[in-house]
Amino acid sequence: MIFFNEKIETLNRSELDALVEERIHYTVRYANEHSPFYRKWFKEHRIDPREIHTHEDLRELPIISGKSIRENQPPRTPDFRFKSVDWKDVFTLHETSGTSGNPKAFFLTWEDWQRYAEKYARIFVSQGLGPQDRVIVCASYGMNVGANTMTLAARDIGMTIIPEGKCTFPPRIIRDYQPTAIVGSIFKLLGLARKMAKENMPPQESSIKRLVIGGESFAQVSRAYLAELWGCDVYNSYGSTEGTMCGECTEINGLHVPEDLVHLDIYDPQMKDFVHDGDCGRIVLTTLLPVGAKSGTLLLNYDTDDTTVVVTRDRCKCGRTHMKIQNPQRESETFWVEHTPFNRVDVEQGVFQRENMEYLTGEYEAFLYGGEGETILRVSVECLDQHKADRKVVEENFLKAFFKYKPNLAEAYSSDVFKVIFNFVGPWELELYSIKGRPKRIVDRR
Ligand SMILES: [Zn+2]
Repeated sequence: MIFFNEKIETLNRSELDALVEERIHYTVRYANEHSPFYRKWFKEHRIDPREIHTHEDLRELPIISGKSIRENQPPRTPDFRFKSVDWKDVFTLHETSGTSGNPKAFFLTWEDWQRYAEKYARIFVSQGLGPQDRVIVCASYGMNVGANTMTLAARDIGMTIIPEGKCTFPPRIIRDYQPTAIVGSIFKLLGLARKMAKENMPPQESSIKRLVIGGESFAQVSRAYLAELWGCDVYNSYGSTEGTMCGECTEINGLHVPEDLVHLDIYDPQMKDFVHDGDCGRIVLTTLLPVGAKSGTLLLNYDTDDTTVVVTRDRCKCGRTHMKIQNPQRESETFWVEHTPFNRVDVEQGVFQRENMEYLTGEYEAFLYGGEGETILRVSVECLDQHKADRKVVEENFLKAFFKYKPNLAEAYSSDVFKVIFNFVGPWELELYSIKGRPKRIVDRR
């Protein structure tokens, strides 16, 4: 199995663009007819939905955000104004984890499920998975869409799923069932590897041939370390309840976007304009519906708050023609010091320097403090053994990697305007362990 949907995944650029435009036109019309929010939105902005045909037309429309969804559902409004089918056609409803305010409600029809599943199926097949595989899913089966629709994707590929939901399962699961792949997050898979090593089951010698990670951005060094620990390839995926399901193929140089099902544009909020391929900006998403399809919640020009860069729209060595984007980063994890931005991933890059990993588990957290004319970044790292860690080596490696592409910050550091303080803690001593839910790796206390 090389492709899940060869015809669509290998369409040439002009055929793909034509399909996208047909679907933009239909989706906009569908939104006007079925989504109370968009009907009002078109009216307020004096947009004639019949006039929207191309993706350039789409770029002329305003941009909405998560706030728009929260303001158009209870308790703010009596009904869910993004819901775009009758209740009788809603198969499941979902909520996004509410890290920033109330959870957003999402309604899915059965057709939506099939489309979400197809996106995952294409990703899995592009990563070399097939009917011969047994896959442990360590993504949550709760109100999230991901794990559920991955499981449906497995049915369509013919794979076996082991629906653990969490990465805390006993290592005997791997010994007894000989799974070939695990879907999970970098940190959970690092923890699992340590647990297996302790139980005398080195992960490199296990049946696992591939890891699929998702749900967060990461530094390339942490991926490399994970691949080394497990002795296998590690592929990235980027999925969300909103329906972006992009994934790295075996080429591992960018994530393919399922362009026929979701349209992505890259926007610079400072310039208030869309950027060219190769430039970094925020991902703005539009659902694409095949003509005649029904959708429970659709989004037009939705700002995801994640940033990325379009790598290429040319045919990939794997044969797929759908465009590739860089590993997206969360805008909410970008911090500014001395007019210079850095992301959580930059801190992670410093932690995961290979030599550091002789002493560290990879778990870390950082805090930003502001004072009179100075900013302090306090980085806490979890040590394998607090007393044996070579602190000087870890600190030097961290600083070298962290400042590598940030000359402004390096200068602020050398003139003492920006200070970096290290804190070496023992296993399970990080503050984030005592916090419920998704841990925040960097907390801005300025
Ligand atoms: Zn590819």
